[in-house]
Amino acid sequence: MKKKHVEVWDNILAVIKDNIPLQSFQTWFVPIVPLKLENNILTIQVPSHFFYEWLEEHYINLLKKTIKKELGATGRLEYSIIVENSNYGRRGHSVKYPTSNKKAVQNRPVNMPVNLGRSKEIPNPFIIPGLKKIKVESQLVESYSFDNFVEGDCNRLARSAGWAVSENPGKTAFNPLFVYSQTGLGKTHLAHAIGLQVKNNFPEKVVLYVQTEQFINQFIDSVRNNNQNDFVHFYQMIDVLILDDIQFLAGKEKTQDVFFHVFNHLHQNNKQIIITSDKPPVELKGMEPRLLSRFKWGLAADLQVPDLETRMAILQKKLYTDGIEMPYEVIEYLAYSITTNIREMEGALISIMAQSSLNKKKVTLDLARQMIDKFVKSTVREISIDYIQKVVCDYFNLPVEAINSKTRKREIVQARQLAMFFSKKHTKNSLATIGIHCGNKDHATVLHAVKTINNLMETDKQFKVYVEDIDRKLKM
Ligand code: ADP
Ligand code: MG
Repeated sequence: MKKKHVEVWDNILAVIKDNIPLQSFQTWFVPIVPLKLENNILTIQVPSHFFYEWLEEHYINLLKKTIKKELGATGRLEYSIIVENSNYGRRGHSVKYPTSNKKAVQNRPVNMPVNLGRSKEIPNPFIIPGLKKIKVESQLVESYSFDNFVEGDCNRLARSAGWAVSENPGKTAFNPLFVYSQTGLGKTHLAHAIGLQVKNNFPEKVVLYVQTEQFINQFIDSVRNNNQNDFVHFYQMIDVLILDDIQFLAGKEKTQDVFFHVFNHLHQNNKQIIITSDKPPVELKGMEPRLLSRFKWGLAADLQVPDLETRMAILQKKLYTDGIEMPYEVIEYLAYSITTNIREMEGALISIMAQSSLNKKKVTLDLARQMIDKFVKSTVREISIDYIQKVVCDYFNLPVEAINSKTRKREIVQARQLAMFFSKKHTKNSLATIGIHCGNKDHATVLHAVKTINNLMETDKQFKVYVEDIDRKLKM
């Protein structure tokens, strides 16, 4: 039987689908996941803040009407917004899913300890006594398949190793399979593809995809609820464990410890482990050596930035899968303009489609140009005071804390002055704010620092080279 909130949402979708163009429906409504219905409030999950604003701006009346129709006059709608994966180091709200994904709708976790202790409606599978194999929802996203994963020089090794693993999980030399790359280059997609393919080949195998942050949160909850053993046993029961973004384990000693035990158990029993990370094992910081050494047991394969041809192929594949047509020149323009991150390239594609369906304009090169210019501009990274301090300190090999310390050592005073100088140059912060963040100084100190640096640059050639060097690094 369908859960009530899913049923309600399905009914709402049916009405909306009849009232807006198909392309808009696909862009803005299909990716939404209904989460719960409580006190006549329907909560839906949307992939980003931008998405939420768009819905509120363009579809609020339609949504209101349909909600009223389904839930009566007291019915309400609430949004839950997914936090972008790229916010490393920061905890997001609730659970994160791969963004912009349609099939995720059907793949919500039901029987997993994902929301343990957070949401009462999800049963805790640990407490089912006497059950050997509990049903595990794999959390795999259907559209992240091998079929949809375009092959190129950039991913050949990782892809073929992944394929081999899915043909023979736990029995190849690639255990663990460790996939690493910068963000937005397909780690999560490939990890899901392997999991899906295992499910195809071996339907009885228990496959679990879990984001490292989920794993950490579950572990914390299990400590709180005093059922750590159940947590460990649950994970030891998995045949193919996929842990995404392992870099989040940095500094989390207790969780690393427990993962170490899970890892050993799985590995000894020829179960497959797949790990993704934003860095190769050797560069991971804050990780226990014994865990790192295990990461090197199998194969570490990276995903690189795809070349133009592969980027075009990825866009074409996506359009084809979604049943959308677009002029070749537009695709080419997109692939030319956005070069380093596939997720951003896809994001631009979605914006173009949205814009065209909204204004009922045809997708033309002009429209694409306008959108991409906007897009590229809005994703330009803001340089923050924190970031400036880090770059300056890295440059001189000083700990970042030094800037905020009371010390008057010459090199540290100079680093502090440089941080102030660049903060004035690159941020919109006031002198007072910059002062507070750079060693709790006042605005006059900042002003003095800016003058000092300018003077030094005029009189000292070597110093000028340093400053220019740092400036370049800041803009990288
Ligand atoms: P990462 O986990 O490395 O940050 P993702 O797996 O989330 O990256 O990929 C970002 C987006 O790019 C996803 O929508 C994914 O489907 C797409 N993508 C990445 N690589 C490929 C590829 N080789 N073929 C097709 N789509 C890809
Ligand atoms: Mg990812």
